[in-house]
Amino acid sequence: AEPSRPFPDTAQLDIAATEERAGSVAGLDGKPVWLVVVPVLAPDLIAFVAAALPLDDAELTKLREATGIPGRIGIAGQIPRGWSVLAGTIDDAVLSQLPEPGVTAAIGSAAGEETIVVTHTLKTLSNAPAIRAVLDYPLSEALRRYERLSYVLLPVLIVGLLATLAGVTVISRGVARPIETLARQTARIALGDYTPPAPIQRTDELGQLSVALRAMTRAISEREASIRHQATHDPVTLLPNRGAIAAAIEASTPPGPLAVLVVGLIRWADIASTVGRDMGDRLLCDSAARLLASGQNDSATAATGGIGESTFAVLLAGTGIVAAMAAAARIAEAFDPPYREGDLAIDNPVAIGIAMLPDHGTGAAQLLRRAEVALAAAAASETRIAVYRPETDPHRPERLSLMSDLRAGLTRGEFRLVYQPKLDLRLGRIDGAEALVRWDHPTRGRVFPDDFITLAEETGNIQHLTRWALRTGLTEAKGWRDRGLLARVAINLSVRDLSDPTLPARVATLQRELKLPMRSIILEITESAIMGEPEAAIAVLRELDRQGIDLAIDDFGVGQSSLAYLRRLPVREIKLDKTFILNLQHNPDDRTIVRSVIELGHSLGYLVTAEGVENADSLRILESYGCDHAQGYYIGRPMEPKEFESFAHAWPKPRSRTPE
Ligand code: C2E
Ligand code: CA
Ligand code: CA
Repeated sequence: AEPSRPFPDTAQLDIAATEERAGSVAGLDGKPVWLVVVPVLAPDLIAFVAAALPLDDAELTKLREATGIPGRIGIAGQIPRGWSVLAGTIDDAVLSQLPEPGVTAAIGSAAGEETIVVTHTLKTLSNAPAIRAVLDYPLSEALRRYERLSYVLLPVLIVGLLATLAGVTVISRGVARPIETLARQTARIALGDYTPPAPIQRTDELGQLSVALRAMTRAISEREASIRHQATHDPVTLLPNRGAIAAAIEASTPPGPLAVLVVGLIRWADIASTVGRDMGDRLLCDSAARLLASGQNDSATAATGGIGESTFAVLLAGTGIVAAMAAAARIAEAFDPPYREGDLAIDNPVAIGIAMLPDHGTGAAQLLRRAEVALAAAAASETRIAVYRPETDPHRPERLSLMSDLRAGLTRGEFRLVYQPKLDLRLGRIDGAEALVRWDHPTRGRVFPDDFITLAEETGNIQHLTRWALRTGLTEAKGWRDRGLLARVAINLSVRDLSDPTLPARVATLQRELKLPMRSIILEITESAIMGEPEAAIAVLRELDRQGIDLAIDDFGVGQSSLAYLRRLPVREIKLDKTFILNLQHNPDDRTIVRSVIELGHSLGYLVTAEGVENADSLRILESYGCDHAQGYYIGRPMEPKEFESFAHAWPKPRSRTPE
């Protein structure tokens, strides 16, 4: 540097002195230069050699390329009215609005585009005009990268959308299909098909649901099987009970005779009162075992069951009367050795009555009854074995003459309906009544239905009785309604009524005539009546249901039908047979059955009514099980229509009011 002029950057000298070399960009005479300072050591520092290399366009370009700085670099020098370009390129608009050093500004350039500008003040000689390095970078260029990005983004977006659609399809297949399958499986269970549904092979919630459904199906069918077992088997001997035996008789198919043997323990009453209940039960089990053993090698034995406290039945299929008597002799022999327990030996002899299908009757109830008539004769006889003889049947002639009177009695007005109140356990009010027929016979006095219904069925008179009962009962219900008592009337149907295809139309006509609303009539049909009925009978039930008439299954639990079977029928209500209710408070087995039927019935959508409620205890138990309706002597005996009306209005009776 010329000695007359001060060194533009003394700091540079210090750096050069300590680091032996220093370089920077500075302004010299209004021009940018590369200033390089090198110390001269001899060996001490005696001088600096400084070189100032002009920084022109070419140098700047090299600098820019070497550093990889994007955009443009220029050097601006201060002039009286602003800035002028010393090297490189600087946009005019940028030049006129140079930001302060260190400030990043966005400036609209002359070309109309925005550019990002940064400046840095370069060292200059004191008093010399200021010089700045200017870096500018068009915004469009900066954004171009992002524009490219948007070209990339659009396809990404589309691909994403397609992937989502595909995903939705896959998920809906993956989720909706199994759900549909599960729904179908559930519907099948509801229809009473308990074969465990095929599992859905998945590990997610649907898979778990499927597993749960299988478990539930199994549980329902097991539970129903156990209820059915309890309902159809004797709790002590575990043999099929009377209902099951009756069903087996009904199920036996002609041709070929069927022998019904009723085996009675003739000293049972004595023995039981002497040895006590527990030993009595063991004796019963021993009797059952002897019976089963004696029939073991007899291929004709179709069923063996307990039909009374101390009576059993043995059914022999395809067996004529001679073979049946031989079988009876074998059975009697099996009871010859006394029952032993400890050093106690008890003689437990039997008597056996025999009735033959078809010679002595057709229906199960009739055959069993007649075999029991024969049993009574057998017990009184020397041989202890007797075959039924119509001549000696004390019931038969009387009942036959009764039949000839029945139709005449209907037209002469000897029949009446009495009404037994039905208590709605939820609302605590009487909301209906079951109509029960009574016959005031001119010479025999009052006759109860059990003494003529079966006979009326057998002689084809039942349809006359049913028509009469429907008209009488519905007319009565209409009267109640007119006088402000909303009570439904339940009429009993016989199985024979279902073979009458005109029945639904008859009911509809009556309903129209009387202007009785839907659901004001309930028709009761016994469980055993519906089992195995032809489609025609079921069609009659469906038609009645379509007309808005509710159907109730009467005497539920004593027959063979399962809840699953009932699913096929348009049934609204099940009436638990009174045999399960009468001893509810003493018998835990009954409680189990009743509770299960109520729960299972509810889960399948049925209302459950319990009949035969004879005391406060059983009513309370039923209430606690959530039973819907109760009926029985404790609530009200069957009564005259007028009496029922005031009874229903007066409910609750003072004695059953809960104390406040
Ligand atoms: P069901 O339909 O099971 O009627 C209930 C029977 O149980 C009635 O006997 C009733 O008096 C009796 N009962 C009611 N509450 C109790 C109670 O708390 N304890 C006991 N031990 N029994 C109770 P009923 O009136 O002698 O009728 C017997 C059967 O005759 C009826 O049984 C029903 O199957 C049939 N029946 C009655 N009326 C008609 C009818 O109009 N048409 C047809 N087809 N059958 C009828
Ligand atoms: Ca009934
Ligand atoms: Ca009943």
